[in-house]
Amino acid sequence: MLAVEQLSHSFTNGGETTPVLHHIDFKVDKGEMVALLGSSGSGKSTLLNLMAGLMKPTSGRIVIGGCGIETMNENRLAEFRRSQIGFIFQSYELIPHLTVRENVELPLVFQGMKAKLRREKATSLLDKVGLGGKTEMFPSQLSGGQQQRVSIARSLVTEPAIVFADEPTGNLDTKTEKEIIDLLIELNRTLRITFVIVTHELEVAKRTQRVIQLRDGRLVEDAAWAGEAQ
Ligand code: ADP
Ligand code: MG
Repeated sequence: MLAVEQLSHSFTNGGETTPVLHHIDFKVDKGEMVALLGSSGSGKSTLLNLMAGLMKPTSGRIVIGGCGIETMNENRLAEFRRSQIGFIFQSYELIPHLTVRENVELPLVFQGMKAKLRREKATSLLDKVGLGGKTEMFPSQLSGGQQQRVSIARSLVTEPAIVFADEPTGNLDTKTEKEIIDLLIELNRTLRITFVIVTHELEVAKRTQRVIQLRDGRLVEDAAWAGEAQ
């Protein structure tokens, strides 16, 4: 499903080059739930943004469903991202003046899908994330955990090949964090969604099947866990 091959990245600001990722290699199979663990500044977000096609790597390859995304032109990559990649942000990134249902429908609007089908898909996913009764509310009327559920539904609505999440529970209290991880595990089990979840918390990482650990931009561990996900 995903292959990262000899991936390296440096940022260049004002003539100064800072290497951030060094020769990263790993593969993720369809249906896997993987945690990307590391302390702050270890390069987790950079790696996730590269894999999701939000920026181009300095060198190396990123292959998703057989397609190398690092060589795609801007239009092709934008289209690929819209159809094949889901993304969940720490800060939810919902549109405040759209209802919960409209937020979830938005990626389908960009695909040109008809309103009736969009509504059916969004409503069904909102049911699955436990928000069946809140579809016509606005994001500001929901708790943080509920807003993240909306964002999770939105990430899945296009039936992407893979979903990336950057510290999805970073803004939530411990109890809500557990509920959101429970939900991601359930979605992984029941819908066979492939997830790569960035976290700096060992307790979150332990609940997945596999943990890939970064330290100072290098992959230092890639281990299967007796996690709860399938
Ligand atoms: P993490 O998500 O693990 O906290 P990041 O990927 O955000 O780590 O950052 C890794 C390193 O890259 C850090 O040293 C950070 O300062 C640096 N970095 C991130 N983004 C940029 C950027 N746009 N320009 C320069 N340096 C950056
Ligand atoms: Mg980060």
